[in-house]
Amino acid sequence: MSTDADVIVVGAGLAGLLCARRLGERGHVVRVLEAGDAPGGRVRTDLVDGFRCDRGFQLLNPAYPAVRRYVDLPGLDLRAFGRGVEVLTARGRSTLADPLRHPSLLAATLRSGYLRPGELARLGRWLAPAVGPVDRLLAGPDRRLADSLDRAAVDGRLRHEVLEPFLAGVLAEADGATSATFVRLLLRSFLRATPAVPSLGMQALADQLAQLPPGTVTTGARVTRVARVAGGVEVDGDLRLRGRAVVVATDPVSAAQLTGVAAPLLGGLRTWWFAAEQPPACSALLRVDGRGAAAGPVVNTVVMSNAAPSYAPPGRHLVEATTLLPSDAGEQDVRRHLDELWAVSTQRWQVVARHDLPEALPQVRPPLQARRPVDLGDGLFVTGDHRDTSSLQGALVSGARTATAVHQHLAVA
Ligand SMILES: Cc1cc2nc3c(=O)[nH]c(=O)nc-3n(C[C@H](O)[C@H](O)[C@H](O)COP(=O)(O)OP(=O)(O)OC[C@H]3O[C@@H](n4cnc5c(N)ncnc54)[C@H](O)[C@@H]3O)c2cc1C
Repeated sequence: MSTDADVIVVGAGLAGLLCARRLGERGHVVRVLEAGDAPGGRVRTDLVDGFRCDRGFQLLNPAYPAVRRYVDLPGLDLRAFGRGVEVLTARGRSTLADPLRHPSLLAATLRSGYLRPGELARLGRWLAPAVGPVDRLLAGPDRRLADSLDRAAVDGRLRHEVLEPFLAGVLAEADGATSATFVRLLLRSFLRATPAVPSLGMQALADQLAQLPPGTVTTGARVTRVARVAGGVEVDGDLRLRGRAVVVATDPVSAAQLTGVAAPLLGGLRTWWFAAEQPPACSALLRVDGRGAAAGPVVNTVVMSNAAPSYAPPGRHLVEATTLLPSDAGEQDVRRHLDELWAVSTQRWQVVARHDLPEALPQVRPPLQARRPVDLGDGLFVTGDHRDTSSLQGALVSGARTATAVHQHLAVA
């Protein structure tokens, strides 16, 4: 059978891009077909009136092992957020920050009331597996986050006012149903490094991975069908191409449609981007509401331009606010909540952009399956965060290990 490439990768998100790069490095001819107008998938940035608005607020953790291995971090010119969190509670505002990074916030942190030895010790014991070897963590028991914290008697203000509100935005769910093992993996990275964004926006990460030989990536090319044929696999849609192997590197819903793998539950997020003449605070700490489910709808908000001034034009400021989806909260609900969270009036803030991502993150339920099969047989492969873990790290790991599997398949074939 004549083929158009050794491998056709469907989807130019992080997983597809890294998979293509690793295969190219091993000498294979690769084509990448991307339905969108640029590579990046869920990692894109819109430039709106000089503001850089990522398509949904997200953070790059430089401690992610796959990020360290496959990404040129200095090339991204990372801008770090504050190392801590500001919390609105019924008693007022509290700050919990790493005193080594923010010595000036030590007194506020000590006054926060969150450093009670009993709960700190129980939380420390619960977190302990996160600092040991990953294999041991993955081999340990797993259960819902809420049940796991209950069993460990972590049941005080630190959990309910800080940890759970913070995790709601990270996990795109607020009912504690996520795998506790997955949360420990995430917290392991948060303990090791401070999350950041590239100075040019999250898209810079995708752009770096998209540096492939000319002609490798074709945008505006949606694949609607994938079929095994004699000696390889054929993709059809805007283009019809044949490869000795095909890697479906789409989002999980499209992957399920194209290959028949099961689609996971997906958590949704909506991010509002506001332009402000004055920043509502001078810190780059994430702000959350610790008053429980009745407070809302914003799960986190931060002055982006305090962390990364390049996210706003000179003299202006960019504030993000994220809510969970589905939600019927409108702009006025978000502004009312932001008024409370920032203790300023947001009436003069202008909406720069709003990004709705109803399928932002695969939900990771216990027991965590950190490595789902990627080889579907006869030259068909599937990759993406839904095959590994729901994060940039998961997408990269997935792309890299799928490249290894495809390489082995081609060598044998
Ligand atoms: C709002 C939001 C916040 C997030 N926050 C964080 C965070 O703080 N930290 C973190 O680590 N992770 C975060 N993530 C998760 C992270 O962005 C994803 O896990 C990762 O980008 C997934 O990459 P992927 O390559 O697996 O899939 P995708 O990025 O979904 O890539 C799939 C690609 O396939 C293309 N495609 C789909 N169907 C077809 C088709 N039929 N034909 C051709 N192409 C197709 C799509 O256009 C897309 O480009 C967040 C995600 C979102 C949306």
